[in-house]
Amino acid sequence: MTKRIVILGAGESGIGAAVLAKSKGFDVFVSDLGEISPKYKLALNKYQLAFEEKQHTEALIISADEVVKSPGIPDSATLIGKLKEKNIPVISEIEFAGRFSNAKMICITGSNGKTTTTLLLYHMLKKAGLHVGLAGNVGDSLAWQVAEKDYTHYVVELSSFQLDGMYDFRANIAILLNITPDHLDRYEYKMENYIHSKFRILQNMKSEDSFVFCTDDDIIKKELLSCDTLAQLLPFSVRDVKKMCGWIENELLKIQYNENLFSMDKKDLSLPGIHNVYNSLASGIAGSVLQIRKEVIRESLSDFQGVDHRLEKVVRVRGIQFINDSKATNINSTWYALESMEEPVVWIVGGVDKGNDYSVLNDLVIEKVKGIVCLGVDNSKIHAAFDGKVDFIVDAGSMKEAVTQAYQMANKEEIVLLSPACASFDLFKNYEDRGNQFKEEVRNL
Ligand code: ADP
Repeated sequence: MTKRIVILGAGESGIGAAVLAKSKGFDVFVSDLGEISPKYKLALNKYQLAFEEKQHTEALIISADEVVKSPGIPDSATLIGKLKEKNIPVISEIEFAGRFSNAKMICITGSNGKTTTTLLLYHMLKKAGLHVGLAGNVGDSLAWQVAEKDYTHYVVELSSFQLDGMYDFRANIAILLNITPDHLDRYEYKMENYIHSKFRILQNMKSEDSFVFCTDDDIIKKELLSCDTLAQLLPFSVRDVKKMCGWIENELLKIQYNENLFSMDKKDLSLPGIHNVYNSLASGIAGSVLQIRKEVIRESLSDFQGVDHRLEKVVRVRGIQFINDSKATNINSTWYALESMEEPVVWIVGGVDKGNDYSVLNDLVIEKVKGIVCLGVDNSKIHAAFDGKVDFIVDAGSMKEAVTQAYQMANKEEIVLLSPACASFDLFKNYEDRGNQFKEEVRNL
């Protein structure tokens, strides 16, 4: 009998999985609790895929041999509980796609820096002339590409939610950038559950595979002690030099892989900030493993244009540099943003608080920030943390107001930085909307 695959969630990954399942001759059914966007409806019709929207009809789902679940649906959903009770496997789109591809999988995870590192590496592999696809959290669905293209390599950004639904998938190169608390609501508020999710990237790796990881991260270092991966361990650090595969020495970025030593001036990296030194080290190591020529690695690390909404330089107005870091939705990423600022900062911060402990930013704020514009519905925690520590602290109820106030506070040779350390849903649709409104208001000045 034909195997029945049910896809839950008709977004990019779900539709991609459906297209791949159909091309492999499975009986496919797609179900989405919300309204399916016109773009994906077109694809459902084009590939003659059976589907429903605005409902999950249990009888049609529970009859599945296997379910591919969108990463947005939590394991705690009642329907997922019922599937598990019936021992119906629930997997992620990446797991499903991996079964049908022989391409080399270069996978990136971590709490922060995934998208930047994924795009940087993709840029490098393309420059090296490899036939490479971009997939996972950023880019198109992996399953869809596996169905329609024949890439030899994929650079795949993996969130912990995707990793949760992965069992047999094998990464050929895995990069783990850092682990700091995030999404704990999906992990029973237990940090160890979240850590284990990130370490799933290592499962199934073989001795010819490579694990690239940051040893400056205490959580990663500790967890590795009890982890028995077969993969070759390739650590990087900006603090230590000994026994590292990637490190910093005399302002040079260095990578030693097998007999090859790669070296480049840290100041030639195109992306600013210490966090991007980590991202560049990780990408450079992966490039070395793939035997990409040193000149190509060097050029890629120095001409990568960066990613929108991540320390994105918008424009200079009256000598004031405006920087959009709207993707900084937690304290850790804002820490790195402030750390990388080299001129006095007027800082636009706030939004939906995720249990932030602002005291972590105290020293940096005292050292670098002259004024704060609080942009959120409830700014009380920000006031409590920083009142009296900066020259000005004001509230704004809209992006227009925030940009105008920041512009008035800043002088020539100073920076206005939007790095909210919070989610955006109180005033904006998402972080992109927040960043785009910032850029628009800056251009209107
Ligand atoms: P992710 O995809 O993991 O959310 P991004 O590349 O989109 O990460 O970057 C999100 C934010 O995190 C950026 O605004 C940046 O300031 C910060 N960031 C980027 N790389 C790192 C890193 N290696 N460590 C800590 N913070 C980082």
